[in-house]
Amino acid sequence: MLPPRQAQVAAETEVLVVGGGPAGIGAALGAARAGAQVVLVERYGFLGGNATAALVMPWMSAHTRHPRPPRPGELGLMPQDHGVGGDLVVRGVWSEIIDGMVQAAAALPPGPETGYTVPFDPEAFKTFALDLLDQSGVTYLLHAFASGVLEPAGPDGVVFETKSGPQVVRAQVVIDATGDGDVAAAAGAPYEIGREDGLTQPMSLMFRMVDVERRLFADYVRRHPDQWRGVHGLWDLVQKASEAGELDLPREDILMFGTTHPSEVAVNSTRVTRVLGVDVFDLTRAEVISHRQARQIAEFLRSRVPGFADAYLAQTGVGVGVRETRRVLGDYVLTGDDVLSAAAFDDVIARGTYPIDIHNPTGRGSTLRDLPPGAAYEIPLRCLLPRGVDRLLVAGRCISGTYEAHSSYRVTPTAVATGHAAGVTAGLATSHQLLPRAVPIADVQAELLRQGADLHRGHAA
Ligand SMILES: Cc1cc2nc3c(=O)[nH]c(=O)nc-3n(C[C@H](O)[C@H](O)[C@H](O)COP(=O)(O)OP(=O)(O)OC[C@H]3O[C@@H](n4cnc5c(N)ncnc54)[C@H](O)[C@@H]3O)c2cc1C
Repeated sequence: MLPPRQAQVAAETEVLVVGGGPAGIGAALGAARAGAQVVLVERYGFLGGNATAALVMPWMSAHTRHPRPPRPGELGLMPQDHGVGGDLVVRGVWSEIIDGMVQAAAALPPGPETGYTVPFDPEAFKTFALDLLDQSGVTYLLHAFASGVLEPAGPDGVVFETKSGPQVVRAQVVIDATGDGDVAAAAGAPYEIGREDGLTQPMSLMFRMVDVERRLFADYVRRHPDQWRGVHGLWDLVQKASEAGELDLPREDILMFGTTHPSEVAVNSTRVTRVLGVDVFDLTRAEVISHRQARQIAEFLRSRVPGFADAYLAQTGVGVGVRETRRVLGDYVLTGDDVLSAAAFDDVIARGTYPIDIHNPTGRGSTLRDLPPGAAYEIPLRCLLPRGVDRLLVAGRCISGTYEAHSSYRVTPTAVATGHAAGVTAGLATSHQLLPRAVPIADVQAELLRQGADLHRGHAA
């Protein structure tokens, strides 16, 4: 039994957003623009979540698939055009981020050359996100880790561990944008993790290789088209290096992306299976394994792959990238069928187009299942409302869905969109003096449209 301890009240606010990743940024902006007083609290000393802390690049496409056949991106390193390039279905805060980052020369616009993904500079995104919050009047506290709630079943305050001792932020509505559903779990909300046997998608430590001669590499890819499909490739070289004992990876290929810098690539090829992102012992093991894998891959690239002879590993993520943990069960559970059949809901608050994309939880290979050309699925507000808990919304990768659905909506644009919607709902809840569940959906949709979101169904603002 731990002894009781005193905590300071650091702030009292209308809306508290826990987590400063893509969903938390969307949530804070949505709530502030709906007129609420907002405090955002983040465990690291910077914003961006996986996009900065785990160096997850590029931001995935939020365009529908186009019915034309795939064609290769000209730079070789950029993703192939998988046939996306139809309609952009996520706007609002997402468009603001992309447009602002492109204008600041910190991101490339989505187009055929980038496979409609958005390569961006993670360092630039840290300050860009801070500026967005400052301009919207959001207050924030960094270096504070949420460890508990004051009142389960309807949290009116969240406890944070900090260098200044425990701090409490009291709020009328809390948004859990921790990715892991930490606050929802502490408040007693039901959740699921992983597929039926409990295994989750693997973790990957991403890293940046710099001083790459991308033209040399692109020439190699052009001469060996069978060795490179989309962003995946180098099967033969990986096999040779594995047989020579130089590589020991539970994957058969290398996954790399061009970035905004001409001599840099982002490598997404470490893979640690059978580890859980809410288990500190598993996280420790994953860091050790993935750092050793990263070192091996960098050596492999330098010694065997054209264009990499003078390249070096410049930076790994602050932490290993965690693809999935808790899915907080809400008033509706989005399914894989909903994603693939482009389901529509009266209480739509966000849309997604990204395929079902499951990196094998036990070893090699991935499952990729596309939506039909031109199609987008809708996410209902009920997925953001945890069962049995009031005054709490979830946003981003911990919203309510099945294992399969999660593998689609986990990507950055959709996380920003569900964050935006959670923020707007929380903001309206405080101004109407209602619980989030009781806010009329028409009001939420009208405010989202007023703030530039795209719900497609012609809801008039
Ligand atoms: C290896 C990997 C590759 C990926 N590839 C891509 C890709 O190419 N393109 C793409 O678009 N998406 C990709 N994704 C998915 C995408 O990065 C994430 O799912 C997305 O960042 C989800 O946003 P989020 O805000 O919900 O969660 P996160 O990005 O995880 O943000 C959560 C935030 O909450 C903070 N936090 C967590 N717990 C606490 C706590 N208890 N107290 C305080 N703060 C807390 C974290 O520090 C973080 O800032 C990838 C993910 C991984 C791991």
